[in-house]
Amino acid sequence: MITDLQIADQPDPLRHCREAFDLPDGILYMNGNSLGPLPHAARDAVAKAVSDEWGKGLIRSWNTADWYSLPSTTGAKIAPLIGAKAHEVICADTVSINIFKLAAAAVKMRPGRHVILTEAGNFPTDGYMLDGLADMLGKPFEVRRVAREDIEEHLTEEVALLLLTHVHYVSGAMFDMAAMSTAAHTVGALTLWDLSHSTGAVPVALRQSGADFAVGCGYKYLNGGPGAPAFLYVSHEHLNALQQPLTGWFSHSAPFAFEDSYTPAADMRKCLTGTTGVLGMVALSAALDVWHGVNIIEVRKKSVDLSTLFIDLFESELAHHGFQLVTPRTQAERGSHVTFTHTNGYAIMQACIDAGVIGDFRAPNALRFGFAPLYQSYADIAVAVDRIKEVMEQSRWRHPDYQQKGAVT
Ligand SMILES: *Cc1c(COP(=O)(O)O)cnc(C)c1O
Repeated sequence: MITDLQIADQPDPLRHCREAFDLPDGILYMNGNSLGPLPHAARDAVAKAVSDEWGKGLIRSWNTADWYSLPSTTGAKIAPLIGAKAHEVICADTVSINIFKLAAAAVKMRPGRHVILTEAGNFPTDGYMLDGLADMLGKPFEVRRVAREDIEEHLTEEVALLLLTHVHYVSGAMFDMAAMSTAAHTVGALTLWDLSHSTGAVPVALRQSGADFAVGCGYKYLNGGPGAPAFLYVSHEHLNALQQPLTGWFSHSAPFAFEDSYTPAADMRKCLTGTTGVLGMVALSAALDVWHGVNIIEVRKKSVDLSTLFIDLFESELAHHGFQLVTPRTQAERGSHVTFTHTNGYAIMQACIDAGVIGDFRAPNALRFGFAPLYQSYADIAVAVDRIKEVMEQSRWRHPDYQQKGAVT
């Protein structure tokens, strides 16, 4: 059993980072894996972009405020978090759209192969986008979804691309990126990694792991705000050959030459499509400055300590309430959230949220709790478990208000 004293005594080199965030008092925010909180810097940057750059600078701000470079400069800030070179990452669009772009490009680089292999039970949009692509390409292209443990045996010479989400959105289980990339390369397949639940939470070594392509999310652990732009990574060895299908003018080598004929940009801008959503990009770019001077190894260490503390306290304090841990107990095998299932999961999470512990629910029965070392303390974890315990012991979740599902869960 961990004592309160031990919790308070944990050395925490990241403690000061919490000041960078605007977090409401009394709330234990355990959902940074779904929507990161507001960094003060993001609010200030958006206010300035609206009132000065848009309001006063008007169209001139594309040059004077360098709006035009934002996708590249923002991508460069993400690169060190994912073990990439600055010029291999660019920000744009959504994870879904970027999956389409890179999966289409990858399949084109492996002519004669017609299978895109992915994990059954992955975050649905990833598979849906692949389905749309396979449908457009027509027969014999197909998306093969297989159970996590069967992926390696399904890596055959028919496979053009293996798409995996590095940290699973429900269980939090984490793939060994280097091992899976090697297995894919052994049969000549390319790899596309979805880093939505990894970036800013676990150290990622794209180059070192031999990953070919990656996409990731700006609004989760990167705190870029609701619907923040996503990012794409293309290993520089592939950049020349890469042809992505959404060839909008922002991916042209000279968008402002207004030529009829299309020539892709020579750099990562070839992965863009249309005009940058400047306000969202400004928010993400400023949010990323919070990471300046932060060592991702420290982040991982604290994340593992927080999640371990949470699992230990949760299981000891809530032992007889019917929760099942679905996240791997082995620290190295999990990302930065912890999931328990419970038959009354939805109502319990609503009651927890009202008690000031904000996690989330994923159908059909999963309660997710995220760990974000930049703004959570060890003491927060103990308080959160105490409040969840109160919700359970007082059966507060049985209240009829907590049974109604909103449009977003
Ligand atoms: C959050 C998340 C997404 C989000 O996709 P959008 O198109 O940006 O809405 C995609 N895939 C995974 C695995 C995610 O966790």
